[in-house]
Parts: sequence; structure tokens; C-alpha cells
Amino acid sequence: MKPKSHLFYQTRSRRPVLAEARGVYMWDVDGKRYLDGSSGAMVSNIGHSNPRVLEAMRRQMEKSTFGYRLHFETEPGERLAAKVAALSPEGMEKVFFVSGGSEAVESAIKLARQYAVTVGQGSRWKVISRNPSYHGSTLGALALTGYAPLADPFLPMMQAMPKIPAPRAYLDGLDMDDQATGAHYAAMLEARIIEEGPETVLAFIQEPVGGASTGALVPPAGYMQAVREICDRHGVLLIHDEVMSGGGRTGKFMAAEHWGVDPDIIAISKGFGAGYAPLGAMIAHDRLIDPVLDAGGFQHGHTYAGNPLACAAGLAVLEEIESGELMGNAARIGALLKARLANLMQRYGFIGDVRGEGLLLAFELVADRQTMQPLPKELNAYVELVELAYEQGLIIYSRRTRGGIDGDHFLVCPPMIVTEGQVDEIIDMLSAALDKFAVRAGFAVATA
Ligand code: PLP
Repeated sequence: MKPKSHLFYQTRSRRPVLAEARGVYMWDVDGKRYLDGSSGAMVSNIGHSNPRVLEAMRRQMEKSTFGYRLHFETEPGERLAAKVAALSPEGMEKVFFVSGGSEAVESAIKLARQYAVTVGQGSRWKVISRNPSYHGSTLGALALTGYAPLADPFLPMMQAMPKIPAPRAYLDGLDMDDQATGAHYAAMLEARIIEEGPETVLAFIQEPVGGASTGALVPPAGYMQAVREICDRHGVLLIHDEVMSGGGRTGKFMAAEHWGVDPDIIAISKGFGAGYAPLGAMIAHDRLIDPVLDAGGFQHGHTYAGNPLACAAGLAVLEEIESGELMGNAARIGALLKARLANLMQRYGFIGDVRGEGLLLAFELVADRQTMQPLPKELNAYVELVELAYEQGLIIYSRRTRGGIDGDHFLVCPPMIVTEGQVDEIIDMLSAALDKFAVRAGFAVATA
């Protein structure tokens, strides 16, 4: 019996007590080992207890742990901002630090709004987003989040924002090639801008590669470019929520680089601090920031933003990604892991789809692969399979959501340092968990 806990998060369920973590592995206080197959919540991108980061944090701690951003500039803050600017699209020279993803998204929409007001476009305030999507849990970010169970209880407290469907052709059963599919979903954005009245639309926000909400959804051909053109045509700002997809996990620092599309504003977090310190950033084009700063400043900020300890950690994380060529590893091992996950479809007829980019990967369980009918809710697959994997010593991340329709998907996103041997371990443990799930659910598995 565990002692009573005075902590609470989402539910009453309890978890093992963490003792230590190194590389891709974590151990609980009973000595059980887990392979961190989802990098926590797609956070621990360079693995746990990285010596370079620990040393950088220790050195910074001995100098100063906090310097309020309105009282002091700090060396790690300046160096990290310069590095992030260098990794961002051209013209994005300024970085606004925050302590997490929701704060980064809040900062993005508030900068967009303040820019519009400053340049005499005060009629623009609507931020169009996609359904499903996840942009954070604070009220501003939640208003953009396309997932009813999370957002609905709070609707009376928020300003409702327009939503368009995320490009999930694999579910919508469209009989079009990839290019036509991209055009089809992008056209929905333009139609919605026109319906709302372009003079009222401030921005469009999207996750370039979907996170937990869609399970690593990759946009169809031409979609990203068409979205950029539509935004430009209507004077609508394009915000990329790279909180999960940014930081190198997809094989590029910003996932949108895969499509050569530059947004106006970017939100990053998660893998940026990589679990070593609460850290995030909003990066925007100078064209937006300069008028706001010239007009008196950005009316927004958080107390812990840009603290030297978090910045020192973030800087060491980026150095580790560079020196270890971890983005290259994410691309290479990601392709291998994706192929291995796709192979599992032969044995398990209830895996309906495997998707993603680099090491931002997911698979979806279905009742029927042809129709992509979801599994019956009663199977509670998104909880059950995670528990079975946990028993094996593998951590994966799951969600049940397809917007309005239920569906179970699972993110397999190990740290970017993962090796081929560890991919074998992941697949072995996952297969054992899937075998047990199949027995429990009464599904046949194909034997080779
Ligand atoms: N945006 C995306 C795409 C996310 O995946 C998340 C978190 O999962 C957030 C925003 C919110 O980040 P945080 O939980 O750090 O506030």
C-alpha cells in the first residue's frame, strides 16, 4: 500500500515513484526499469541526465539562478536567443522566452493581436484553428484547442474561436490523390476566412506535424504551402504551434522546414527545454515585433520567463543536439522505427494506421482497417494498451480523440538518442503488450 498522496493532477490514478532516469531509461523506487518510449509527453528529446546539460546547469546555479528579466539581461538568455534566432526562419530575429507551451501559444496570439491593433487593424481578433488540435490548457490557448471534452466545460469563460477540420484524409475516406487532398483541406481555411469576414480574422494556428490531438498527423502534399498563400491573400497571420513538433524531433529544428514554409509567429517548448527546465519561446518576424516595440512595448510577460538557469539548460540542450547530430539520428532512427511499427500491421489487424515524421510517430487502433471504424469505447484501448506496455517496462503516450468521434491512438516518440537496439526493445515490448491486448479484446492475431 502506498502512502496517501497530497498531490493531484488529472485523475485519482497513482503511478510508480520515480527513483532515477538516465538516457532513454527510467527506474522506479522498486528497481523496475522503463524505456521512455514517449520522452514523457514528447519532452525529454535528448534523454535523461545528460552530463553536458547537468554541468551547464550546475555552473549556472553557482553564478545565479534568477535574474528578473526587467532588471537584468543575462548571458545565457542572450546566447540562447541568438541560437534560436539562427535556427528560425529568416527575418525572425527576436525571441520571447516563456516557461511552457501554453504560455508560448498565449504569447503568440497576444503578440498577433497587439500587432494588429498597433497597425490600425483592430477589427481583426479571430484566431482560426483546427479540429482536432491541442494548443494548451490556459483559457486563451484552450479557446484554440479543438477537443470538446477539454474545452466544453469552460466555454462560457472563453471567447469561442472558429475551427476548421484538420486534414485527416485517412479518416474522411477521400478518393483523391495527396495533392488534391491538400488543396481540399486548405480550401476549407479560405472558405472559413471568407465566411467569418477577412477583416475580422487575425490569425490561423496549426501544428505542422500534429501532436497528441491527432497522433502525429502529417499534412497532405501542398497543404502547408496553400495555407501560407491563403493567409497572405487575406492578411491573416500564420502561427505555427511547434511546441511538440519543434526542437528537432522530426529531423528538422522546426517541423515546417520539411515543407519550406515560413510562418509569421512560432511557439516552441517541450523538447526545447527537454525536461531539464521549464522553458519555451515565442519567435516572431521583425515585421510584427518592431511596430509593437516602437509603439511602447509588448503588454505581456511571465515572471519566470528567461531565467538564467532555464536558459543555460536550453543552451546546453541545443549544443547537445548539434554536437551529437541528433536531428540526423531522429530522421534515420525515426524512419526505421516507423517501418517497424508499420510491420506490426501484418500481425495486428486492428492497427489501422501508422504515421508521423522523424521520431514524432503514432499508430492508431481501429475495429476495421478498411472503414477506419474506431474500436468500441468499452475496450478502453487508449488506457488498457498503455497499462499493458507499462507492465512490460515500456512507456507510450495515448489519446482517445478524433474530434467528435472516438478513436485510440498511441504516440511512440523515444528520445532522439535512441539506438537501433533500443528500437528492437521497443518493438518487442510493444508486441508483447499488443498480444495481451488482443487476447483481452478477443481479436485474432496473424501468425507468420
Ligand atoms: N501546443 C502543443 C502542440 C502541445 O502539444 C502542448 C502540450 O502538449 C501545448 C501546446 C501546451 O504545452 P504545455 O503543456 O507546456 O502548456
